Amino acid sequence: MEVIRTQKRTASNDIVSTPTLPLYLTAPPMEVRLEEFELFAIDRLRVLKGVSDGLARGRNPNEMDDLVDTLWKEHMRLPDVSEMINKDIISHFVLRLVYCRSDELKKWFLSMETALFRHRFRIKKIEEQRVIVGEFGLPYKAVIGAELESLKERLVLVARSLCQTSSDVENIYYKVPFEEVPDLVATRRVLLQKGYAFVAGSQLVSLVVTQFRSHLSKALILTNRKWTTTIREREKDRLTPIVEALSTSYLGPDYTQSSEYADISLKDIDQVSKSSFPLCMRHLFEKLREDHHLKHGGRMQLGLFLKGVGLKLDDALAFWREEFTKKVGSERFDKEYAYAIRHNYGKEGKRTDYTPYACSKIITSAPGAGDHHGCPYRHFSEDNLKAALSRMGLSSRGMEDVMDKVRNRHYQLACTLTFEAVYGTSCDTGINHPNQYFEESQKILKSKTPTAPV
Ligand code: SF4
Repeated sequence: MEVIRTQKRTASNDIVSTPTLPLYLTAPPMEVRLEEFELFAIDRLRVLKGVSDGLARGRNPNEMDDLVDTLWKEHMRLPDVSEMINKDIISHFVLRLVYCRSDELKKWFLSMETALFRHRFRIKKIEEQRVIVGEFGLPYKAVIGAELESLKERLVLVARSLCQTSSDVENIYYKVPFEEVPDLVATRRVLLQKGYAFVAGSQLVSLVVTQFRSHLSKALILTNRKWTTTIREREKDRLTPIVEALSTSYLGPDYTQSSEYADISLKDIDQVSKSSFPLCMRHLFEKLREDHHLKHGGRMQLGLFLKGVGLKLDDALAFWREEFTKKVGSERFDKEYAYAIRHNYGKEGKRTDYTPYACSKIITSAPGAGDHHGCPYRHFSEDNLKAALSRMGLSSRGMEDVMDKVRNRHYQLACTLTFEAVYGTSCDTGINHPNQYFEESQKILKSKTPTAPV
């Protein structure tokens, strides 16, 4: 795959003969426009993040089929089929580069791509599945017609031994070398004959998925080798910065624009911090009120969040001044801290309008001793987190659900479950940004406030 600057792809580059569900065996010889390189990858990332969220929520296989179908249509569909296939392939290979760079990234990508493949395969019709198996050159032949009839009696016996009825014998079986399905053989879930196992159509998915996963796992190791030995250095001015940013990229709004729910003033700030701040910001807010000081990481995380929820610059200066002067005095505050606050609001230095941090950035931060920034679901001890959740009013059942997600390292989902428990309503999009938590909470609280009679 060669990445080029903006230029129309020629017809000869189109991959029209590729199956609709590729195995991504080799990177195709095609040119990719630089903007597609990033945009396609972001769209696929949205799908993979949706899959990750669905799995973490414990959706069953049928619900996952529906979810994958919806996510794919929403983010990957293009009117032209061959363009859509190209997008599928390009985005997969770009994310391979992004996610080959550490064991943790590799593990996540391998799991999500495998789950995506599994459900995309499952929702294909049986006929399409057979075509895919054939197109990929998998050594499995469908047994149909007379051959199937001749095996029917023995297939019924296998079905009975699995406590199924004879009507559970399927219409399509695949003839697979028996050594490729050791699990099915060991648990006597298949008919064996002359070195072949006869695998029911409904069991095919696990065979294909195993093959897919094993291939992708090896490919990620090879990609990592290429990335570290050549690509990273060769592309340091062009692709490397994009690749490095993609794994932590946040995919939602940046909360720099004010919205009707982001408009707080100094007089409300204490009350609103209790009613609508997510745990990360509640903790920083309380520590600031308690210690009259926050270290740099905390000032940035809380300061930009407050800017995003509509605290005006003058109010922000007054707010930080009120606390810091109790500890460092007003002269030092003006000299050392006020500049940074104005800087965050784009009034000093390069006059950049800095954006509030998303969960992905906060969760991957590394708070040191004496720091209070970070995400409590990731950075608090279990006891501290339980105490904080209890102060937010979670029941012991709700808390156990949250802790279960934390133990499985689903920190944003843990925050989403907290949100749902606190406000008694579902949050299907999941929490991805502290300012989103705030706005969603304000929407709910304002909708519950009775309007004054006219
Ligand atoms: Fe804050 Fe996000 Fe962690 Fe929730 S998940 S506490 S909003 S960083």
